[in-house]
Amino acid sequence: MNQSSQPCGAASRALFLRRREGQTIIFMVMVLVIMAVIVLFNFDVHKILYIKSNSRNAGDAAALAGARWQAVTFNLIGELNVAQAVAINDALLRGETNDFPEARTIADLQARLCFVGPMIGLTAAQQAAKNNGIYVNKRYTSEMQQHANVVLASYPHLFIPPYANAWEEYAEMIRTVAGQGVAALPGAQSPYVSYDHMVLQRGFYSAIANRDWCWFYHNARKLLETYGGWQSWPPLPPLAQRNLMGSEYFALNLTTFATLDALEDLPGNQSAAAVRQQLSRVAGKALVPLVASVPAKWYCYEPSAWRTWQDLIASNSDVNTRFPFTSDIKKEFNYAGADASVAIKADAPRTMFNSKNYAVTWSAAAKPLGYLEGPVTPNTYGLVLPAFHDVRLIPVDAAVSQVEEDLFDFGASWLEHIVGHLPIYMQAGPAGISNLAGGCGYCQQLIIWEQSSFRLIGITWLQNGGFTNCFTRGGGGGGGGGGGGGSRHEH
Ligand SMILES: [Zn+2]
Repeated sequence: MNQSSQPCGAASRALFLRRREGQTIIFMVMVLVIMAVIVLFNFDVHKILYIKSNSRNAGDAAALAGARWQAVTFNLIGELNVAQAVAINDALLRGETNDFPEARTIADLQARLCFVGPMIGLTAAQQAAKNNGIYVNKRYTSEMQQHANVVLASYPHLFIPPYANAWEEYAEMIRTVAGQGVAALPGAQSPYVSYDHMVLQRGFYSAIANRDWCWFYHNARKLLETYGGWQSWPPLPPLAQRNLMGSEYFALNLTTFATLDALEDLPGNQSAAAVRQQLSRVAGKALVPLVASVPAKWYCYEPSAWRTWQDLIASNSDVNTRFPFTSDIKKEFNYAGADASVAIKADAPRTMFNSKNYAVTWSAAAKPLGYLEGPVTPNTYGLVLPAFHDVRLIPVDAAVSQVEEDLFDFGASWLEHIVGHLPIYMQAGPAGISNLAGGCGYCQQLIIWEQSSFRLIGITWLQNGGFTNCFTRGGGGGGGGGGGGGSRHEH
């Protein structure tokens, strides 16, 4: 086109150029905004990935540290069993028949080790998590501090102390760990947890409170669908004066037997003669048969916990065994017993849109492994013997110890509920505990559970296929409303 043919060509050209300039600026600004978003997004993604990998390393390291100290403790307790056998043997050879002071001293040491060993593991686990860049978690810390208070206040009335001042010392050890700040929440075994009774499982109460139907799908679907009211519960196991033999954190699950002869009565166990032979082999000298019938305190694996791995996992759940290993386990490694679980929680603050923090959760479990000459499992003879040479990470779902976070503030303490409220509930049902429910969240959940309309919501949700959202045991879903981004171990 010919510019000069237009009367005001120059002016229009200038306007045209300015407009184009304006468009360019708008375009540039848009590019800049998009780039900034990409950069910030990338920054967030990197930060989240970084924190995720940190949490993973920290959780794994903490679980391994816990399991390593479990292994050390088992081996020490095993060595002391052998030392005790030798002490009794030598005393018998000297003609002493009724008093074995060395044996008593050794047993006393073992009793203390059941607490001290796992508690050192707990300290080591915290250090491992912190070394991997995880900060102290205020909530975990205050939970542990509270537990120290419960031990000091209630345990002397509830449990026979395994040695003088046991509860004071134990509470002090817990308080010391909490005082340094808790970064990795350890799996703890409540002394009243019975896998066979639902009202003794804390997860049951959390699941009701959170309407976590996935939990029911994985752990108690049959119960949810067929529950026939409080009278249909099986009776509670005896609650008062139960034994607590060791640390609840990274629990060893040991027990004591009065004589080696008594070990023979365990289902599927070796004869007393075989136990004595094995002891003689480890001690490096022949022990007289009388050793097996002398009353003493022998540290043994708690038979209900030290079963085969599949057995234990199957009994923990109503649904078909979801055994998390794809290949067969070697015979000598096929035992449950004891392991160390931890949970790590880290926050990644988001840069973009000033939104909520991105919470990263990581659970890990590790297990002391080993075998006795044969090779046979460490618990073949019932008696603890030095056998552990290794620790390995295991799938969280295959762990005996489970980290149970108080997802919900239940007000009253767990022990108070079990000892004070449950027996009333078992006798009189929800009416009996209705006046307690004001101060006890656990009782509140039981009352909700008794409502068939409540259970019907879950049954309907599961029947409509809601369970397709349920991936792993205890995982979110089902209206859990968790922080999102949680991840669990899946080897
Ligand atoms: Zn209660």
